[in-house]
Amino acid sequence: MKSETCFGKMYGQPLSEYYTEEDAQSAAEYSREHFGNDLTPYNCAKCGLWHLSPRYRQTPSKKCHCCTGRDGLSKDAYRSKREARQRADIIYLEHGISLRAYKCKYGSGWHLTKSDY
Ligand SMILES: [Zn+2]
Ligand SMILES: [Zn+2]
Repeated sequence: MKSETCFGKMYGQPLSEYYTEEDAQSAAEYSREHFGNDLTPYNCAKCGLWHLSPRYRQTPSKKCHCCTGRDGLSKDAYRSKREARQRADIIYLEHGISLRAYKCKYGSGWHLTKSDY
C-alpha cells in the first residue's frame, strides 16, 4: 500500500504504509533479505499507520558538556554533519519538526537546533 498522505522527504515519493507493526516488520525483513536494506518500522504521527525508515535512529551521539538546549539539558553531539543530518531527517519524518545541523563551538561535534526560517 502506498500512502496518500505521507511522502518521503528526499524524493517526494509516497511512503509504503502498513496497518500493523507486524506487517511493517515483515516488510522490513523482506527488504533486508532481498535488497540488503536496513529498515525499521515506526508509527507515523501524521497518518497513524506504520512506515519504514532507514535505521538511522541509532545514530551514535554523546552528550556535550558545554552546550545546553532551551530545556536546560545537555545537547546531543553527533560525530559528523552527515550523522547529525541523518538524525534530523528521522525527527522530521516522525515528528514533522525540521532541524538544522551546526558545528559545536567547543569542538564536541555537531548539534541540531530548530531552524527559524
Ligand atoms: Zn504517515
Ligand atoms: Zn556543544
